[in-house]
Amino acid sequence: MTTLDSQRGDVAVVVAAGGTGIRLGGGLPKALQLLAGEPLLVHAVRGLTAAGSVGWVVVAAPPGYEVAVRELVAPAGSVEVVPGGADRQRSVAAALAVIPADFDIVLVHDAARPLTPPSLVEQVAAAVRSGRDAVIPVLPVPDTISQVDPTGRVVGSPDRASLRAVQTPQGFRRTVLAAAHAAPAGGPVTDDAGLVARLGIPVHTVPGSGYALKITTRLDLQVAGALLNGGGPDPA
Ligand code: C5P
Repeated sequence: MTTLDSQRGDVAVVVAAGGTGIRLGGGLPKALQLLAGEPLLVHAVRGLTAAGSVGWVVVAAPPGYEVAVRELVAPAGSVEVVPGGADRQRSVAAALAVIPADFDIVLVHDAARPLTPPSLVEQVAAAVRSGRDAVIPVLPVPDTISQVDPTGRVVGSPDRASLRAVQTPQGFRRTVLAAAHAAPAGGPVTDDAGLVARLGIPVHTVPGSGYALKITTRLDLQVAGALLNGGGPDPA
């Protein structure tokens, strides 16, 4: 990837921040929880706009928080805000619908991954630009992963060597992502690459980053705080 490539602003990003879960406390949706004094969403948007490839950002906000979210993200530049949906997939679809027609590459990112390095955003964007239809950042899985039945009894443990933990941002040729969201609903999927894979389209991987960790528990928040205290991710 040349410097020119990474400065071209040819990538639109959907930020999924529409979750209303208040499990982390404070009575606030997760995306608005504070990390080092700022909402997770603000950290996430700042990391995205620091990537030169990113030319347009739309946030799917927790319903009812659209005005607050607009104010929070305004300092990061021109960021669109739409109300999120009943689940992540619907939030992404709502945001996807407002992306201007001239963006051929779309990334989908979780607000819950506030420390994602701009360099990871660039790697995903570059892989799509180079011709991949779908690209996800992944990390090896350090633990053994077992499938259990409803009673908690182990029914299988796939070979760890072939397993990967999947992160965001996930990158797509826009037409492919739109087709995946327009396809008839199947069983539940937890990410956009899962929807694309259902169409039989290959999903490619790039190395993920420990900094792109997803905040789910208070422990995750503490880990992210410690990472920030340690200087945070590389600037680019
Ligand atoms: O709940 P979970 O951590 O899996 O959510 C991942 C991301 O999807 C979060 O950033 C969350 O705000 C977002 N989300 C959404 N709309 C929903 C539910 C979750 O945008 N209805």
